[in-house]
Amino acid sequence: MKNIRFTALIIILITSASLKAQESRKNPYNLNIISSEQAYSALIHGDSLKRLLDLKTAVPGIVMDIRYATTNNFTHKQVYTSARAFARLKVARALADVQRELSKQGLGLKVFDAYRPYAATLMFWDIIHDTAYVASPVTGSRHNRGCAVDVSLVDLKTGKELQMPTPFDDFTPKAGSAYEQIPEKAKQNRQILLSIMTKHGFTVYASEWWHYDFNGWKNYELLDLSFEELAVIK
Ligand SMILES: [Zn+2]
Repeated sequence: MKNIRFTALIIILITSASLKAQESRKNPYNLNIISSEQAYSALIHGDSLKRLLDLKTAVPGIVMDIRYATTNNFTHKQVYTSARAFARLKVARALADVQRELSKQGLGLKVFDAYRPYAATLMFWDIIHDTAYVASPVTGSRHNRGCAVDVSLVDLKTGKELQMPTPFDDFTPKAGSAYEQIPEKAKQNRQILLSIMTKHGFTVYASEWWHYDFNGWKNYELLDLSFEELAVIK
């Protein structure tokens, strides 16, 4: 009897140790990350505000320039398998308000990146170990929460981007949101973007004029689902 109990105890210990090993392989930094279709589905059925929306339909007229779906980005690799942009419901609605207001001035939004799976953050960190420009895997990125967007302004008629301080993902001080030594026109355009995004609940990131965090991002979980996985979950 004692032997049986002892054997059972050993089996339980071994099982729980191997489960722990699996978990830690998935979340090496002990983060709580929603990474399965089932977990995401349970999340959005518990709280519909947590749903990620496709910005192409949620923000009519938004120009998509999803750099990580091409090789035209700092990694020189295609990180995303499709050129899509997603954000949480409230974020997408706020962007739709921004777009509506901008259209009165003949302007619109262009999006470079929005929701980013946690796996992409791990890949970026491998390339650039600098928290000024990429998020540490220890914390994850606000992009992983579906609460950050990388955006610029376009002329609605031509679809062309307005003059800005630097191109997207320029990892130099010139990309700073308050950097002064830039042409007057670029400064004015950066200010138009800043004013309207701030008005609609976003905060600019000091190192990148194009990066905006949605206020309240702390209330949203880190996610690690691909665009393809998201597209099939109802
Ligand atoms: Zn960003």
